[in-house]
Amino acid sequence: MDFETERYRMVDTQLKKRGISDFRVLEAMRKVPRHRFIPPELRSSAYEDRPLSIGEEQTISQPYMVALMTECLRLDSEDAVLEVGTGSGYQTAILAELAEKVYTIEIHESLSEKAREILTDLGYTNVAFRVGDGSKGWEEESPFNGIIVTAGSPDIPSILESQLSDGGRLVIPVGSRFVQTLFTITRVGKSLQKREFTSCVFVPLVGEYGWREI
Ligand code: SAM
Repeated sequence: MDFETERYRMVDTQLKKRGISDFRVLEAMRKVPRHRFIPPELRSSAYEDRPLSIGEEQTISQPYMVALMTECLRLDSEDAVLEVGTGSGYQTAILAELAEKVYTIEIHESLSEKAREILTDLGYTNVAFRVGDGSKGWEEESPFNGIIVTAGSPDIPSILESQLSDGGRLVIPVGSRFVQTLFTITRVGKSLQKREFTSCVFVPLVGEYGWREI
């Protein structure tokens, strides 16, 4: 299977055609080998237009959703970004291509370990990993220029808003357990500007500021 050809086709047909236009995001999506983050038995589907299972009842998100959320973050190369929900580590790699430093938190140790192995093998040196409840953010490393939550939350945790720098952007799916709306929240001084994007479906954000029970 020619993964590189598949990946370029994914960018053209799934991303550009649906309106993803940020040049740096498109370049990162062309570069990162998504198939490396996918279990071997599903690898032939790596560049299809859908989420895939990665174990622990979790998923790697659909490529379009990864690109859209990343575009919403508007990262530049000097930014520090927090990712809540490392999952497979694929989104982490995209962020690591675009920002100076990525802090990523995953609640399942086995997923965090696997993601760390793959990202290290691919040569990423600008990622810090943590196992734990990311709904509380990562206070010691805040403020962040961007925060991305890759699991569905019942509401917007104010603790995450408080860890944004001035001008910082939070991208988060908010809604019920079964369907959410993607929001971006931008800090402008003391005020927070909220913008609504598309509807989406994510696995639940569990933890203190997410869903309390599974
Ligand atoms: N960004 C990931 C990728 O590219 O593979 C997809 C992540 S998956 C849709 C959501 C992840 O969030 C799951 O791995 C899940 O275990 C994790 N998660 C859920 N609640 C969490 C929490 N409170 N803290 C950290 N991770 C959490």
